[in-house]
Amino acid sequence: MNRAKKILKETFGYSDFRHHQSEIVASILKGEDALVLMPTGGGKSLCYQIPSIVRDGVGVVISPLIALMEDQVNALKLLGVSAAYINSTLSASEVESIEQQARCGDLDLLYLSPERLSNEDMQAFLKTIDIALFAIDEAHCVSQWGHDFRPEYQNLSVLSQQFPDVPRVALTATADERVRDEIVQELDLQKARQFISSFDRPNIRYAIEEQDRGKQQLWDFISQNHSDDAGIVYCLSRRKVESVAEFLTAQGRTALPYHAGLSAKVRAKNQNRFLIEEGVIIVATIAFGMGIDKPDVRFVAHFSMPKNIESYYQETGRAGRDGRPANAWMAYNYKDVVMQRQFIRDSEAGDDYKNVLHNKLDALVDLCEQLECRRITLLRYFGEELAEPCGNCDNCLNPPEKIDASTEAQMALSAIYRTEQRFGMMYLIDVLIGNKNEERIKQFKHHQLNVYGIGKNHPKTWWRRLYRQLISLGYIEVDDEFGALKLTEKAKPILKGEEPFYLRDVVKAKNKTAQNDNL
Ligand code: ADP
Ligand code: ZN
Repeated sequence: MNRAKKILKETFGYSDFRHHQSEIVASILKGEDALVLMPTGGGKSLCYQIPSIVRDGVGVVISPLIALMEDQVNALKLLGVSAAYINSTLSASEVESIEQQARCGDLDLLYLSPERLSNEDMQAFLKTIDIALFAIDEAHCVSQWGHDFRPEYQNLSVLSQQFPDVPRVALTATADERVRDEIVQELDLQKARQFISSFDRPNIRYAIEEQDRGKQQLWDFISQNHSDDAGIVYCLSRRKVESVAEFLTAQGRTALPYHAGLSAKVRAKNQNRFLIEEGVIIVATIAFGMGIDKPDVRFVAHFSMPKNIESYYQETGRAGRDGRPANAWMAYNYKDVVMQRQFIRDSEAGDDYKNVLHNKLDALVDLCEQLECRRITLLRYFGEELAEPCGNCDNCLNPPEKIDASTEAQMALSAIYRTEQRFGMMYLIDVLIGNKNEERIKQFKHHQLNVYGIGKNHPKTWWRRLYRQLISLGYIEVDDEFGALKLTEKAKPILKGEEPFYLRDVVKAKNKTAQNDNL
C-alpha cells in the first residue's frame, strides 16, 4: 500500500485517495476480486491503474469505446506510465510490437475491446504473459436490463474460466440492484467485495420544467444563470442540435454543435474549443461527453428528454466535477414521451424487454412530474435513501403547488371514453368546455353527452396541461396516425374514482422562482 500511495502522489500528482479508492486498491493488491460502483467522475480509473503498476505483470483493461481507450492511454503515457491499446485501428506490426512489449514485462496497462478478448488468438497470447489483473470497465454493458447492453460483454465469462487466478475488478457508474446482480452472475464475481459509493452530487442543483416556450425557455435559463459559463446542452436529434446552436450563437454566445453527422475533424475541433476556451457552450446529441474530463462545466441543460434516468444521471454528472455549484436543468416536452413510447412499442425487442423500457421511461417521467425532492427520487432509483429533502433542487427551493385534480382527470378521461377514443386533444377540450364554435360537436351529437361543457370553469390551457400530464404518465396513449387519444389500462382506477390524481402546478411554481430570484 505504501507503494500505491507513492504512485498516487508521484505519478498522478494527487495527495489523497478519495471515495473507496484506497480500500479498492488494497483489496486488489491482495489479489481479491472487486465490484466497484462509483458515479461518473468519481475516479474509477485509478482503482485499477495503480494496482496494475504495483503488481507484477500487465493490467488488462476491457473498455467498450475505442475513443475512450485512446484518451486513457495517451493520458497515461503523458504521466510516464507504460500503456498501450490493441484495437482495430492498429496494423498487424503495431500489434506485434505491443505484444512483444508485454512479453518482456515492459507494459503496465493494456487496453482491449471486448471483441478482441473474445478472439482465441488473443486469449492464447494472454496465456503466455504475466497478468496483474483484469479490469472490466463499464461493466453494466453485460446486463440485458441495463441501458447499454453489448452482446460482446457476455463473452467475458471466459475471464474466470481461462484465467481463474487473475483478480477481476468490474467497474460501473450506473447499476441498480438488478444490474449489479447480473454483473456478478455474468462475470463470476460471487466472491468479489463490493464497493458502493454514494451517487449524490450535492453541488449539482436539479431543476426540471415542462417545455412551453421552446428555445426562449432555454435562453432564459442560460442568460439568467450562466451569462458567461461553459455548459452542455443536450438535444435528441441532429437537426435540433444545429438549430439550437444557431439560436444561441445569434444570442451572442459561442455555441458549437456536436453530433455523429459532423466529420471527425469538426467534432474534434469543437470539442477542443470547449475544453480550452472559456465560456463555450457545446450543443450535442448524447454522443458527446463519454470520457470528457472538464471540471468546470457549470451547467448541463437537457432540451429534450434523456432516454432514461441512468442517462440523465450520467449526462448531468458532467456538470460541476470541480465540486463548485452547478446546474442541471431540463425542459421536457410531453411529445418526447409520446415519441419514446411509440419508439419502444414499434421496436423489435421482445415483450419482456419492452416492459423494462416502458418501466424505465415511467421512472423518468415520474422524476419529471415529481412534486417532492428531485434528489430523493433520483437517488432512490439507484437504491440509495436520502435522510431528508436536499434543499438544493427546484422542488425543495420553490415547492410546486400540488392540486387535487381527481375530478377533472375523471372528466378528461371520461370525455375520451364517451367520444369512443376517436378524437384528438383539442376536440376533447372543446367538448369539455362546451365550445359552441366547434361545428363538429353538433354534427357528432356530442353536445348531448354528459361531459359536454362540464369543464367550463377552467381555461383551455389548463386542460391542455392536464391532458399532457395524463399522457406523460401513461394514462392515455396517442394514436400514431390521427393523434386520437385512447385510454390505457392504467386509466381505469382514476376513471372509476378509485385513485386520486394530483396536478403539478407549474405556472405558480414558476412565478415563485422569479420572485425568489429577486430576493
Ligand atoms: P470515472 O472513470 O469514475 O468517471 P475518472 O477515473 O475518469 O472517473 O476520474 C475523474 C477525475 O477525477 C479525473 O480527472 C481524475 O484524474 C480525478 N481523480 C481521480 N482520483 C482522484 C483523487 N484521488 N484525487 C484527485 N483527483 C482524482
Ligand atoms: Zn431537493
